[in-house]
Amino acid sequence: MIPPKMKALVVTGEKTIEVQEFSVPQPAPGEILIRLEHCLICTWEQRIFQNGDGMKMPFLPGHEASGVVAWVPEGTPTSFREGDPVVVKTLDSCGHCEFCYRGLDNQCVGTPKKRFYDGVPGSGGMAQYIALPVSRVFPLPDPNCDLREAAFAEPVACCLRSLEQADLQFGEDVVIVGGGIMGQLHNVLAKKRGTRTILVEMDPARAALATRMGADEIVDPSACDPILRIKELTCGRGANVVFITAPIPQLAELYLDALDKVGRIVYYTSFSPNTPISISPKSLHYSEKKIMGSYSPTSQGFYTAARLLGRRIIDVRPFLTETYPMSEAYTAFTRSMSAETLRVGIDLWK
Ligand SMILES: [Zn+2]
Ligand SMILES: [Zn+2]
Repeated sequence: MIPPKMKALVVTGEKTIEVQEFSVPQPAPGEILIRLEHCLICTWEQRIFQNGDGMKMPFLPGHEASGVVAWVPEGTPTSFREGDPVVVKTLDSCGHCEFCYRGLDNQCVGTPKKRFYDGVPGSGGMAQYIALPVSRVFPLPDPNCDLREAAFAEPVACCLRSLEQADLQFGEDVVIVGGGIMGQLHNVLAKKRGTRTILVEMDPARAALATRMGADEIVDPSACDPILRIKELTCGRGANVVFITAPIPQLAELYLDALDKVGRIVYYTSFSPNTPISISPKSLHYSEKKIMGSYSPTSQGFYTAARLLGRRIIDVRPFLTETYPMSEAYTAFTRSMSAETLRVGIDLWK
């Protein structure tokens, strides 16, 4: 039975987050209702919590969520059944613009539908129920899979987009700059692609975790010249691929020098401040280096992430540092911003 009311977390002002009651959303035609179980706190939610991030308050956050299908309204054309474990793509895309048709819904230019909860806008991952079009719900392949791990689908899908941009080949030397959650996920995925990974990170705990998760080399940029060290580790050539996962614009320029000829660099992170960098077009001409961006996940990435997590092809358990009930959301958000944590989760029914 679907109850008429549900609980959700709402950011009501600077560093203020509350549990509030809302009507359970009614699925529109073509939508199904999901009972969400877990939601992770991403940097976007941290920014909303800290200073609003330009959003109008109150706001119902959350976009890294997993759950089970709660209700498939009669006549909805779908093979989903009630009880199916799923992950959801709360990020909106229209489904019928040029980019959506090309499978690049991360670059959607349409006008997607926005969600409201009794008038309160929100992405909706931190509510107990969400109604979504079938196309934004992704099946988990194992009925017994762990929904806490599955909640990583969105960040994993973001990193899959980044790896897809780089088109990793077996045996390549891959440098990952930054050992936060995104750097760690890049490392785990790049290892699965048969590459040798070199993680640039000065925090010993994050470096040790990456080593435990398969990183082949650690470069501590506080102890050496990281570019020289990367050259040493790659027979003087430089890396085939560099991923920048730390948001410092100077790194985007510096690590061009860590690339081999014909090397590829992916600017994965949202750089801040947005300081321009200088690039020599002549050196790009001669070296044939490639500079690429990577932004947000695609639906295809979500589908792949659901398979990787649902069958534990990648293990993200070491990255879920802490989980809190909704009632302790303030602590959860505060902890999520500490350097001691990688991902902090909210248990939506506790
Ligand atoms: Zn996220
Ligand atoms: Zn679109």
